[in-house]
Amino acid sequence: MSRAGWAYVPAGSGPGRLQRIASNSRETAVQRAYRAYIDHGRGCAACAVDSALCATAEELWSAYQAATGPS
Ligand SMILES: [Zn+2]
Repeated sequence: MSRAGWAYVPAGSGPGRLQRIASNSRETAVQRAYRAYIDHGRGCAACAVDSALCATAEELWSAYQAATGPS
C-alpha cells in the first residue's frame, strides 16, 4: 500500500524539511475522514471502552477506508 503524504527530505547540512510529496483532493478527503474518526473517539464514551462496539466509530472508520480507496 502506498499512500500520498509527507516525507522527510534531508537538506544537506541543514536541518532538513518536510515536503509535501503529493497534493490532491483524495488526500484531503482521507485526512478529513481520519480526523473525523480520531475526533469522535476522543469524545465518545463507548469508544473509550471499546471502539469496536461503537456504531459511529465503525461508520467513520468505513468512511476512512473508503476514502483511502483501493491501493
Ligand atoms: Zn464512538
